[in-house]
Amino acid sequence: MTSPLRDRARQMLKDAGLYCTEPRLAILQVLMQAARPLRQDQIGEKLTLRALNKVTVYRTLESLIEVGLVHRAFTYRRAGYFELADHCTEHQCHPHFTCTQCGVTHCLTDILLPLAKIAQKGFVINRQQVRLEGLCPACA
Ligand SMILES: [Zn+2]
Ligand SMILES: [Zn+2]
Ligand SMILES: [Zn+2]
Repeated sequence: MTSPLRDRARQMLKDAGLYCTEPRLAILQVLMQAARPLRQDQIGEKLTLRALNKVTVYRTLESLIEVGLVHRAFTYRRAGYFELADHCTEHQCHPHFTCTQCGVTHCLTDILLPLAKIAQKGFVINRQQVRLEGLCPACA
């Protein structure tokens, strides 16, 4: 069984030096089709072809995060939200805006914020992640 999405997922794994396993292919395809970051349980629910248990989803996500294909975009109400890292730069994830009224989070993929200037204080930034809260256009 082949599809453009699946081929792209296979190529991403190959480029990252990871074996093409069914869970990895499946989870990458879910994230490719997602308009916004997803919680682990939401990813699990969207796996249509084959159900994977929680541990498998967790471990698969961890392996994708380790090679930088997937980012934990932010944590909200104790749950991690995951997405593909393809709209991020080396040191910065795109900012996220969460509406406090409707609860929807928007990826601000076209906004690049200046990196925090803390190097002179001895801090080394691996990644800057910013999450904004407020009202979305529909709720404002
Ligand atoms: Zn990112
Ligand atoms: Zn809203
Ligand atoms: Zn995002």
